[in-house]
Amino acid sequence: KLSKRLAMVASFVPQDAVVADIGSDHAYLPCYLVHNNIAKSAVAGEVVDGPYQSACQEVKHEQLQDKIIVRLADGMDAIEKEDGVTAVTIAGMGGPLIASILNKDLSRLTTVERLILQPNIHAISIRQWAQQHGWAIIDEEILEEDDKIYEVLVLERGQQHLSPAELLIGPKLIDKRNDVFIEKWTREITQWQHILASLEKADNTEAIKTKKEELMSKITLVKEVL
Ligand code: SAM
Repeated sequence: KLSKRLAMVASFVPQDAVVADIGSDHAYLPCYLVHNNIAKSAVAGEVVDGPYQSACQEVKHEQLQDKIIVRLADGMDAIEKEDGVTAVTIAGMGGPLIASILNKDLSRLTTVERLILQPNIHAISIRQWAQQHGWAIIDEEILEEDDKIYEVLVLERGQQHLSPAELLIGPKLIDKRNDVFIEKWTREITQWQHILASLEKADNTEAIKTKKEELMSKITLVKEVL
């Protein structure tokens, strides 16, 4: 059974997609998608040998070798043109790492229609990347599991202009405003206020001043949305 977090990622994979799961680790997500006849076939990419081995084992154990290819590769290098990948999933990493993986070789995205991304932190990096590269956010979800809050972003090709608040917080999440969303941003504001209070005690150098201004503008931005 998938974690709630990965089940949310899976819920956005279109029926009959050909999926590439980058940074797949144990390959639970592609195995689930193929087993449940959501994905026609899949590629599981891993850059580290240990997780690559566990992905191979899992696919073998589930007897899915004819539908899932496991590749030891850095990021999007796991995708070959002939695979005809239509959906890419990247989950369980920081937003900046996900954005840099996508950015490294945009030609690997030629056949891809949908990106389903689950950053553990700094989703803003993904929204910035999307806006700069002709991808639009068509849906977003936020959920809590084991006291951690996760966001899932769903991108398809299109132009989108996001305001500073939408970039930081997420246009669809702002619209939905569920309880987890309120909890996340209330926590963030409290944390920023703590940092601000400790900065008040520090020497007022240029660097400290800039940091304080940054924090204050983020607090204002988020408070307006909450
Ligand atoms: N996607 C799974 C999930 O969400 O449960 C595994 C997440 S795990 C925390 C992150 C995985 O990404 C690790 O197995 C790591 O080796 C892999 N990874 C990190 N950078 C990568 C890259 N550039 N290319 C492929 N895999 C990468």
